[in-house]
Amino acid sequence: MKLKKSFPLLGQVYPVLGNHEGFPCDQFDLKGDKHQWILDNASDLWRQWFTEESYISFRKYGRYSQLHPGTKLRIMTVNTFLYGVLNSYLWSDSTDPHHDLEWIEITLKNAEINNESVIIIGHIPPTMTDSEISISITLDWQKRYHSIIERYTNIIRAQMFGHTHQDNIQVMRGAKNKDQIIGLVYILPQLGIFRSSNPSYRIFDVQTDNYAISNYHQYRLYINEANKAGTPKWRVAYIFKLFYNVSSMEYSNVAKAIESFRTDPEFTKKAIEQMFQEGPDGTKWADKKSMHMSRHFELYVLHVH
Ligand SMILES: [Zn+2]
Repeated sequence: MKLKKSFPLLGQVYPVLGNHEGFPCDQFDLKGDKHQWILDNASDLWRQWFTEESYISFRKYGRYSQLHPGTKLRIMTVNTFLYGVLNSYLWSDSTDPHHDLEWIEITLKNAEINNESVIIIGHIPPTMTDSEISISITLDWQKRYHSIIERYTNIIRAQMFGHTHQDNIQVMRGAKNKDQIIGLVYILPQLGIFRSSNPSYRIFDVQTDNYAISNYHQYRLYINEANKAGTPKWRVAYIFKLFYNVSSMEYSNVAKAIESFRTDPEFTKKAIEQMFQEGPDGTKWADKKSMHMSRHFELYVLHVH
């Protein structure tokens, strides 16, 4: 309600749960009901945004999918917060104890039958590399998720996640054919200030004919500037197509732009500063040239299973 009061023009909101919603954090009882209190409270808090079907699904399972009003675009949540490697309830069964992969597959199959397009939203990116596995989700789950995405790449328009407090794009490639790009994963920068970052939000442009992402504007509030001025002022930090120098956001174009990190250290430096939302950590990493090239590339390109 507070959101609606503060932003009266706000449209539809699609909430997702993260790994810090409960206490102790990261712990979710996948087969029992020890985290039911979170679902009870969150489903009532967010009821205004849900269809009746979504409300029932979310209250029971923490997941839902629904069509964006007046379109054939389905927004589908994935419960990656349940499969964090820190969740000790996974120790007895690390596969799909909550049947989330099964539900994702069925939801995508129905969307395909109904000629819908799908944007996937979730919290922990299901595409993190081995070196980041301590804050990621189990590799078993990631591999199976990857297979489902590959099967339904024809209807999935984007995958959007958070969790890392960084601004990344990951390229998903075919398991067998590495030249085939099966998806782009947008890891969105944070509105908070973790790691001294500058608060950020993003507006995506979506094509009305096929619901593909055609561009985005990255907005930022520069804390030091706001402190000096005594008043906060949001500005555009960068516009994707201009910054990455691409004519469109087709998968192949974006992948090519990301490949240029290999050969263009100056651009890489700028991208790393954006990755850390132009905070001090960005400057620190961008200056460590030998380290940042490998780290950056690793973060941007999903290893193929
Ligand atoms: Zn998180």
